[in-house]
Amino acid sequence: MRPRHQSSVDNDFILKILDKDAPRALIGKLHADARRLTDEVFGRDVYARGLIEITNVCRNNCLYCGIRSGNTSVSRYTLSTEQIVSSCRTAHSAGLRSFVLQGGENPALTADRIESIVREISSEFPDSAITLSLGEWDDNDIQRFREAGATRYLLRHETRSETHYLRLHPESMSLHNRIRCLRTLKRTGYQTGTGMMIGTPFQTLGNIIEDIDFLRELQPEMIGIGPFIPADNTPFSTFPAGSVELTLRLISVLRLIFPKANIPATTALATLDPTRGRIAGLNAGANVVMPNISPPDARNAYRLYDNKAAFGLESIDGIDGLARSLAESGFNLSFDRGDYRG
Ligand code: SAM
Repeated sequence: MRPRHQSSVDNDFILKILDKDAPRALIGKLHADARRLTDEVFGRDVYARGLIEITNVCRNNCLYCGIRSGNTSVSRYTLSTEQIVSSCRTAHSAGLRSFVLQGGENPALTADRIESIVREISSEFPDSAITLSLGEWDDNDIQRFREAGATRYLLRHETRSETHYLRLHPESMSLHNRIRCLRTLKRTGYQTGTGMMIGTPFQTLGNIIEDIDFLRELQPEMIGIGPFIPADNTPFSTFPAGSVELTLRLISVLRLIFPKANIPATTALATLDPTRGRIAGLNAGANVVMPNISPPDARNAYRLYDNKAAFGLESIDGIDGLARSLAESGFNLSFDRGDYRG
């Protein structure tokens, strides 16, 4: 059988793939086609990005998120500039050349502070890529961070449906603003990442189709999808987790549509399936892993969902083990910056 061509990945095909009774042979071929295409574009290289969780203080109150402002059981922290730069230093000595600063929307982390953190990192590590994942900002701030040296930004749209968005977020947040940020990021020249959780409460297959339509329109350089995982002390704590199987199918679908996009095998996948999740993600067409390089105390406190993997192979401490585990499955952990090659 010939591999499916990108243009034939239409919505009817995607619905067939997402059907829970889809034939195993069809799903096997989907993953094989997606992986073959990934090999053509990236070879067996898997880019490592060091993830630093710079703060778990957040003004937002997303119903699914463990660090939502309403969760009073969280012990809140904000890393100092020195702690952030020192995490980059440790990761840089281990060979990493790509750092992702992620955090809640912390009012104390003003645009001035973010800008100066980015400047410090880019002046000490001019050979490394800086990605921000710090929520929504106005156009001017997005421009300033870019000028300071950030070249990539991750901001999942979460869902493209207005009604679904409202069921996941309080009314003080708006899908309109999130999409405005994404369009500004693209216009400002960032390699822009977006995506959604799979299996959030009230999500329908129709919502996922809308999400993919939005991705086709935005043409992001990075796409992050991972299963929803319930978090203690949140309104969604009793909802079931999203499906690993469905997430893997969607990774393959997205790979076929976006051959060159950087797509991570996410921590959420490794959390729900600690033994096979990461490799299954790579076999489905992912080409990025994001080991945690935050100080260990911060990793414990940045609990977006229950049992979040942040140690061992999911962290800088386990980087050699991660490289070995990838090698056993025929992958090469690459310390290349891994810029989007359009
Ligand atoms: N505040 C920034 C933002 O909104 O993009 C970055 C931090 S936010 C915690 C990072 C991502 O975590 C979100 O985009 C969301 O998709 C994911 N996330 C939050 N809670 C989750 C959960 N319970 N299960 C799976 N992923 C979750």
